Amino acid sequence: MTDERLSIVDIFKIGVGPSSSHTLGPWRAAQQSLARWGEAPGLAGLRAIEVHLYGSLAKTGRGHGTDIAVIAGLLGADPETCDMTDVQTQAHQALAEHAITLADGARIGLQVHFHTRESLPTHPNGMRFDAQWTDGRRDAITCFSVGGGFVAWESDPRPPRAAATLPFPVDTAEDLLRWCRDADLTVADVVLANEAAWRPEAETRAFIARVWQVMRACMYRGCHTPGQLPGGLHVRRRAADLNARLLGAAAVPDLDAWFTAIAAGGHDFAWTLDWVTAFALAVNEENACFGRVVTAPTNGAAGVVPAVLAYDVVFGKGPADADRVVRFMLAASEVGCLFKKGATISAAMGGCQAEIGVSSAMAAAGLTEVNGGSPSQVLMAAEIAMEHHLGLTCDPVGGLVQIPCIERNTMGAIKAITASQLAMASDPANARVSLDAVIHTMWTTAQDMSAKYKETADGGLALHIPLSLSEC
Ligand code: SF4
Repeated sequence: MTDERLSIVDIFKIGVGPSSSHTLGPWRAAQQSLARWGEAPGLAGLRAIEVHLYGSLAKTGRGHGTDIAVIAGLLGADPETCDMTDVQTQAHQALAEHAITLADGARIGLQVHFHTRESLPTHPNGMRFDAQWTDGRRDAITCFSVGGGFVAWESDPRPPRAAATLPFPVDTAEDLLRWCRDADLTVADVVLANEAAWRPEAETRAFIARVWQVMRACMYRGCHTPGQLPGGLHVRRRAADLNARLLGAAAVPDLDAWFTAIAAGGHDFAWTLDWVTAFALAVNEENACFGRVVTAPTNGAAGVVPAVLAYDVVFGKGPADADRVVRFMLAASEVGCLFKKGATISAAMGGCQAEIGVSSAMAAAGLTEVNGGSPSQVLMAAEIAMEHHLGLTCDPVGGLVQIPCIERNTMGAIKAITASQLAMASDPANARVSLDAVIHTMWTTAQDMSAKYKETADGGLALHIPLSLSEC
């Protein structure tokens, strides 16, 4: 499963909820399909587009807003910056009118089909975009949303992204460890040096600062937005309740003051635990509402990394400066890359172990890195975190990224902290399980897992809680 060279910008993507594979991926696929037709044969005379969604995308696409996402992509909306309320309004109108106005002003026909009984052979998250022109020409583009917002194309006439020559090429955890040992560098040092093959170091640092700012804003918004989540499950938002219980009902006016107020509460175990929980809940409640979040490595698991980083910033031992955030994110991103290369970060391929399990491993690595863990301890922390997520199924109730997803992020965050502390207290020389072994185990477990536990809402909690899908 070795992939192209992956960078931190591939793992942390700013976008909107609720799902990287069912929202962000289809959004980008629609955007890029339209761009490809724009290059050739051109959009002049384009009469209609039909979007066909297959497999997991069809089964849980309505709950994940896949139809909204593909329309947003066709509208040319940028998931990093768009006004989501406006986009949703336009998308619902397009669905109702079976027509869409493209960015160039052309009005064309539009149909979105959910093929719930069909899957494409290559991948469970298949899409086909069919275009027709007024002169009778037709073209079809088939692609796959392969997790974390990545899109794979059945055929792509465009030249592949130029392969960067990395000073420390890494395909496995063993490669990473060897580079760290040979060059006497930390995990974050190795990743930062590799990132410099794509862009100047200052740009990488600025990118991380932007990502952290979006994560912080998301936690703050989530902790100050009460109410109910959309979709019909009537799930109550709990981050704001928790925030009010812990800090009082009066909203703290801004983000920095909010972190300061939380830190002033001290280091009591219950207080700290409540805040890690609140941070994770907040992100994933925002995610469930089409809010702006960062894939880490996916949307469904977007709360784990920010919750653990916020835990370190607010309650940690070190100076909570920009460099600490950078080193956390670099180590975390590399672990995400290792899982994408050696296994999968797609729930449709590997169940929830591929989402919450990977995010927990990423966060454990980041936390260990900033607390001065050796490279072996950083990888050991990631290994421990994943080891105790192996086999975790994906069974979102009603196809919505709410139950069990939101709470599951709190568990992933706590496991990451425990894994990091265990690794910091251990001698990796005595470890019996390597990170590469656990990545391989996750992948073989994914292959053995029944399709009903891979983001299809056909098994597990999705069937066995006292709610009927008619409520959604
Ligand atoms: S159960 Fe896990 S993998 Fe599935 S949608 Fe929820 S968070 Fe994602």
